[in-house]
Amino acid sequence: MTYQTTYPYTGETLKTFPNASDAEVNRTLARAHALYHKWRTQPITTRKVQLLKIATALRAHRDELARTITYDMGKLFRESQGEVDLCAMIAEYYANHGEEMLQPVELPMPVGQGSAHYIKQATGVIMAVEPWNFPLYQIVRVFAPNFMVGNPMILKDASICPTSAQAFATLVEKTGAPAGALTNLFISYDQVARIIADPRVSGVCLTGSMRGGAAVAAAAGKNLKQSTMELGGNDAFIILDDADWNLVKQVAPRARIDNAGQVCTSSKRFIVMADKYDEFVTILKEQFAQLKMGNPMDPATTLAPLSSKGAQEKLQQQVNIAIEHGATCVIGGHAVAGEGFFFEPTILTGITPDNPIFDQEMFGPVATIYKVDSEEEAINLANNSSYGLGGTIFSSDPDHAERVAAQIETGMSFINSSWTSLPAIPFGGVKNSGYGRELSILGLDAFVNKHLIYTPEK
Ligand code: NAP
Repeated sequence: MTYQTTYPYTGETLKTFPNASDAEVNRTLARAHALYHKWRTQPITTRKVQLLKIATALRAHRDELARTITYDMGKLFRESQGEVDLCAMIAEYYANHGEEMLQPVELPMPVGQGSAHYIKQATGVIMAVEPWNFPLYQIVRVFAPNFMVGNPMILKDASICPTSAQAFATLVEKTGAPAGALTNLFISYDQVARIIADPRVSGVCLTGSMRGGAAVAAAAGKNLKQSTMELGGNDAFIILDDADWNLVKQVAPRARIDNAGQVCTSSKRFIVMADKYDEFVTILKEQFAQLKMGNPMDPATTLAPLSSKGAQEKLQQQVNIAIEHGATCVIGGHAVAGEGFFFEPTILTGITPDNPIFDQEMFGPVATIYKVDSEEEAINLANNSSYGLGGTIFSSDPDHAERVAAQIETGMSFINSSWTSLPAIPFGGVKNSGYGRELSILGLDAFVNKHLIYTPEK
């Protein structure tokens, strides 16, 4: 496993990091475990103050961190700035609400059966395995709640964005957080498995692909460790017959193109009623044609390169397979020749359920559009997926939108809006999109011991 930063705009390798030794892994485990015991004796207010310092430091170093993110995985600089802002919001949210969320929970008891409540306690060291598409946000959304709970974290980040992971770990350390609160390690898959198996580790959270998730979840299961899995998606964007068309036009392109289309909850399948289908295809085609590929640091650029050469090649293969099996390419369809890892904004139509791409996640600026004759057909099509992460419903009647949303087998539904993530709203999916939730109180509860205190009736 080589940890290196290769700038996706130029293809130039800027930095390579040495792998951690087993001795370093052992030292990390010992230090994190010792901190877990120390934190059990300390009031939560110490960690609250510390987490607020981390939020302040994120804001103070906003542009420097944003630049690091862009050079690691290529997203537009302004998107990286937005990511740092969101991280500061998450840190502040858990600092300000963590104590209240960790209060004991009274359990309603039938008369005569005594009293019961549970207290929320830390469980131990957490192994976090995170992806490259949001190099800071993915870390912060598991680090901040577990920091408040008192679970120290060991981080294995994606091998293509080591500079961002290291920058965040250094920032945490510089704010004065205790050693072991967050340790970033450049480790192999075997070392990850060994850490999960270690008795001092109580759980593992992973965000990534089904392939990575299945391997890490298997290691967790084998060792009876708690786990949360945040995996891929093939989210539907359903435009109902009473949708506000002006809003649809504003939201649809960004829902697919943000982060160069490399978002688990990007709208990957647009589902449109037959009478509006041609108009929608024309609109999206015009909007995609206007996108400007270029230097992600240049504010005029509107479409960033993909994260790596491998990502570009994989997407090309998927688009080729889709077309070979009958899909029509309305615009784009090709990787862009040259140094950067760009892919043309692409629209595919005519994908039938027997097309191998029908049930695959395409991670890049490729929209697929489907024509349906009824709402029922739209719902069935949205549900005809092995994924179930998010989804979008457009209707000018919120009750109508919610009725349809409730029939979609998914973890999150966004009404009249693109996918979104805020500290207070939970994030996660069902089916092959994984299990468990991050963010909100649900994310904080993920690795908490709900310790029952029962007193029988006298
Ligand atoms: P990935 O290949 O599964 O990698 C994710 C992380 O898992 C990386 O750190 C990777 O390390 C590590 N990993 C992979 N296999 C492993 C194994 N056997 N043992 C230990 N670690 C392992 O996924 P990706 O391609 O980087 O990320 C894109 C995927 O993430 C997409 O499917 C996307 O939809 C999903 N995603 C989901 C969410 C969500 O919240 N549901 C959010 C963002 C992204 P290396 O880099 O060293 O291989």
